[in-house]
Amino acid sequence: MEASATPEPVLDAADRHLVDGVLTKQRRALAKTITLIESTRADHQQRAQKVLAALLPHTGKAIRVGISGVPGAGKSTFIEALGNWVIDQGHRLAVLAVDPSSSVSGGSILGDKTRMESLCQREEAFIRPSPSAGSLGGVAEKTREAILACEAAGFDVVIVETVGVGQSETTVAGMVDVFVLLQLPNAGDDLQAIKKGIVEIADIIVFNKADIDERAAEFARVQMRTALTMLRTASKNWRPPVLKVSALAKSGIPEFWAEIERYRKTMTDSGEFSEKRRRQAVAWMWSLIDSGLRHYFREHPEVHSSLPRLTRDVAEGRATPGAAAYRLLDCLKHQVS
Ligand code: GDP
Repeated sequence: MEASATPEPVLDAADRHLVDGVLTKQRRALAKTITLIESTRADHQQRAQKVLAALLPHTGKAIRVGISGVPGAGKSTFIEALGNWVIDQGHRLAVLAVDPSSSVSGGSILGDKTRMESLCQREEAFIRPSPSAGSLGGVAEKTREAILACEAAGFDVVIVETVGVGQSETTVAGMVDVFVLLQLPNAGDDLQAIKKGIVEIADIIVFNKADIDERAAEFARVQMRTALTMLRTASKNWRPPVLKVSALAKSGIPEFWAEIERYRKTMTDSGEFSEKRRRQAVAWMWSLIDSGLRHYFREHPEVHSSLPRLTRDVAEGRATPGAAAYRLLDCLKHQVS
């Protein structure tokens, strides 16, 4: 990553200690940094931004892989098999999660201690469940920052796991280099993914559980390849490959990783790899501006006092939504001008 144009932040002793800990690959310091990032307290947020600014020059070196699939598709079994394999190849792996349902259910996709048991034991792996509070936007923002912290701590493979619900796939695809869709070899699952437009954002499609019925898996693979020829895909230089694996039997894992490496090389050679990261960083800035403005708007005293009345007027047909919205937005305009 290029040196930042913004000046090096002044850190107090505790935060300097945290930054040094992350840079010297101490997992405890990394965990504490992510806790700071996830905190909703305003003073913690300020500290987190300073710590991240100090870490920024040391980020960007990992391959960021998103893995999505419906519950039961085998994501955690797959990540465990893949994780152990990539660590055996000499990598260090961080696994993060974006799980919008965790704020509703109180659980989280990586929260269950029985998941990824063997991976948890390994020194070269760092596994962090999804923050359990906040909207998808809030969770995503924190995950993006956690990716940077993991990279600064020397993890060269970062996996972001997400469940196939709502907008979470698009959100995760927007923060990773390569987005993988894990599918089950039955027609219902593929059709759902095609209908929801998720196949179009996938860079690699994997049919898991090929051990159960090899022929069904091959049939699903061929059908998906055919469907892909009719769909728009994300890059003109990359046609998403469709693979079969068995996460349980640990088969197809090296072949999968070879596709990740091929993706990185193809996209780097065409210049798209860095272009995609640049685009993602700018989109991230705008999403923070949007959410910041919304917050600023809601906190504005004049908006705060007239919002309930105007909301009632709109609901009961006494004011048009347009008139009410412009009137509220005008409160900010007066402040700005
Ligand atoms: P997740 O909800 O997507 O994380 O799915 P899990 O990894 O928890 O897997 C759901 C179930 O499918 C578990 O009982 C796994 O043992 C099983 N499973 C996962 N991968 C495979 C596979 O390749 N073959 C078979 N036969 N079962 C699998």
